[in-house]
Amino acid sequence: MLFPVIEGPVSNKKHAIKNSKVTECGIPYPDFYEDDKEAMKAIYFREVNELSCQMCKEKIENLLEN
Ligand SMILES: [Zn+2]
Repeated sequence: MLFPVIEGPVSNKKHAIKNSKVTECGIPYPDFYEDDKEAMKAIYFREVNELSCQMCKEKIENLLEN
C-alpha cells in the first residue's frame, strides 16, 4: 500500500504526510521548505516500509491495523 511521504533538508528521514500542514510525527512543512510549493514537489508515494522516521512508521502501521 502506498502512502504520501515527504523528505527534506531538515531531516534526512522519510516522513509520512498527515495533512496539508504537518507530518505524522508533527513536523510542520515550513520546517522542511519555506515555500509550500517546494514542499508539495517533495512529496512522493512510497511503501510504508520505506519510511525512515520511526514515529511516522509506527503511526501508519497502527492506522493499517485498525
Ligand atoms: Zn516523521
